[in-house]
Amino acid sequence: MRMTILASGSKGNSTIVASARTRLLIDAGLSCRELLKRMAQADEDPAALDAILITHEHQDHIAGLAVLARRLRIPVYFTEPTHRAWVRMMAPRTTMTYAKWLEHTQKEKVARAAAATQLTSEPGAPNELGAPDLDSETWDRSVADLQASAAASDEGVAAASPRDPARLPAVEYFQPGTAFSIGDLTVTPFTTPHDAADPCGFVFESASEAIRMAIATDLGYMPPNVKSALQRIDVLLLESNHDLDMLKDGPYPWAVKQRVLSRVGHLSNHATAQFLAQDYDGHATCIVLGHLSESNNAPELALLSAEQALRERGTLLGNRVLLAQQSAPLAPICL
Ligand SMILES: [Zn+2]
Ligand SMILES: [Zn+2]
Repeated sequence: MRMTILASGSKGNSTIVASARTRLLIDAGLSCRELLKRMAQADEDPAALDAILITHEHQDHIAGLAVLARRLRIPVYFTEPTHRAWVRMMAPRTTMTYAKWLEHTQKEKVARAAAATQLTSEPGAPNELGAPDLDSETWDRSVADLQASAAASDEGVAAASPRDPARLPAVEYFQPGTAFSIGDLTVTPFTTPHDAADPCGFVFESASEAIRMAIATDLGYMPPNVKSALQRIDVLLLESNHDLDMLKDGPYPWAVKQRVLSRVGHLSNHATAQFLAQDYDGHATCIVLGHLSESNNAPELALLSAEQALRERGTLLGNRVLLAQQSAPLAPICL
């Protein structure tokens, strides 16, 4: 099996996970052109991709999605709420702003979760109904754009666009917690605590190769369901988004700092280290730290923090720790 991280960070995320027979692209958070360029750099053939899977609808995960999927003519896998949120974002002629829509979907999500008694929040934890706020660097821009175009559309031009910007070659739905197969890969999505419609991470397993790889980024904390999903993983792409001091002293407005730090924001270096020191089972051959913030983190700080956590557990010295890059693909990790 192979994981090729084409880009990781607050400005765009995309990763290829491949088995002998199946190749999946997880998220498409750069322009189609840039994604194709990165695939060429990493020696990955875009024509060999079987499907695109989306973790959540934030801009840094979907920026090139529609164009790329149409170009490659491959299906896109979403949860239904994520797909609906994405369609809403792509078609801004609406009476409801995206922020309002998101709030509505969050309520639906909590209701669904309560019904299924699968709430991932620990008892007493702040719930996920907090005002949907801004994501990292790219997010506020997308909401602003959306609101601007929604306002512009109020001028009365109601004619349907001849080319629906949200059209895709095919859409498939999955549900967090329910495994599904694409080719010879089994995909198990798990719910993550993050301020999007229905965010998730993924575990990929190739039965024939007995290898498991996982992607866990964009989560405000490590709830029990994520900890248990991340057991027996051979290659783990794990968020290490910000350094707490850099974030506190950094350039973000107060509201955005609050949001990043919240339980539906992003994992700090400290939170990631805590997971590695206390909950991680030590199974991985390779841990890749990803989704680093350019404004509020330094790669050496993230690396130091994770390595220190692993060093405290003397038995884990064999775990290789890598840093995913925002600006260039990482060499494929093959097991
Ligand atoms: Zn996000
Ligand atoms: Zn993100």
